[in-house]
Amino acid sequence: MTTTAAPATAPFRFFDVHVVRSRRLGPSMVRITFAGERLDELASGGRDQRFKLFLPQPHQDRPVFEDTGEGWYAAWRVQDPAERPVMRSYTIREQRPHTGEFDVDFALHGAGPDASVTAGGPASRWAAGARPGDRLTVLAPVVQDNGGVDFRPPAGTDWILLTGDETALPAIAGILSWLSPGTRAKVWLEIGHEDDRQPLPSFADTDITWLVRDHAGGEPVLDALRAAELPEGTPYAWVAGEAGTVKAVRRHLVRERGIGRRAVKFTGYWRRGATEEDLIAELTAGTAPSDED
Ligand SMILES: Cc1cc2nc3c(=O)[nH]c(=O)nc-3n(C[C@H](O)[C@H](O)[C@H](O)COP(=O)(O)OP(=O)(O)OC[C@H]3O[C@@H](n4cnc5c(N)ncnc54)[C@H](O)[C@@H]3O)c2cc1C
Repeated sequence: MTTTAAPATAPFRFFDVHVVRSRRLGPSMVRITFAGERLDELASGGRDQRFKLFLPQPHQDRPVFEDTGEGWYAAWRVQDPAERPVMRSYTIREQRPHTGEFDVDFALHGAGPDASVTAGGPASRWAAGARPGDRLTVLAPVVQDNGGVDFRPPAGTDWILLTGDETALPAIAGILSWLSPGTRAKVWLEIGHEDDRQPLPSFADTDITWLVRDHAGGEPVLDALRAAELPEGTPYAWVAGEAGTVKAVRRHLVRERGIGRRAVKFTGYWRRGATEEDLIAELTAGTAPSDED
């Protein structure tokens, strides 16, 4: 996982934000639009721009948290877990500097079409119930060229390969909207329901395969990739989603397709059975399984 235990502050900064509106995109996704003071200083690098959000505990109306600058992580860690904000990693789906707003698309995991707000984890529960005015804090970039953007195809790349699930859909949408005309991109996206498909505008020459998860099991992305004919030329692959799937896809690309390791950027966005606290605890204790395993 590339969840970082102690994300550096600079060139990121804390912003207090509030919900402007929320819109259901499909059975498993909700788009939340945020605004806040000094958001004109937020500078998303686009593509897969990651950031941290800090949620209030259910009994609080805002995150109880002091911006202590570079020392914030140590301060956050020693706070009472029942009182300190819940920290999670998300993607800036779109920033609109002219309106001072940005969007985040949340996967409502554990929630079917009848979305119970008790299923899932704290972040997906919060998103399912978010109302205009709800407050949270984000640690977000203030310069566009920042370390929270991973999608960086090197010169000489002939075509792009993208795979992910709902959690990676915002990043994939951001990447596709960033690609130049004429770029060839092949995309495999795993979703929970047919109605979770969404338009993915791009100037690139895109070939998008939507894979509706078979609740009986299987590995939709891996199975589809194994059966796929890949274009000639030098690829750059970006792979995200559930950590086990990400690892298997990376192995397939490197070992069976002969794609160079450095040409595969892979990130576990979540791991089955583990909360983000569990992943951070592993990183802090140095017991996190290696992505190379
Ligand atoms: C760089 C980065 C960017 C990300 N961007 C986004 C984004 O834009 N949108 C988005 O929705 N997610 C995104 N994620 C994933 C998100 O951070 C995780 O899904 C996170 O675990 C959700 O927090 P939670 O509080 O809802 O669940 P947690 O409390 O962390 O987990 C509770 C339980 O739910 C399981 N779980 C977590 N996520 C899922 C899931 N998607 N499906 C099924 N079970 C799950 C866990 O394994 C655990 O058992 C991103 C992750 C990273 C590292």
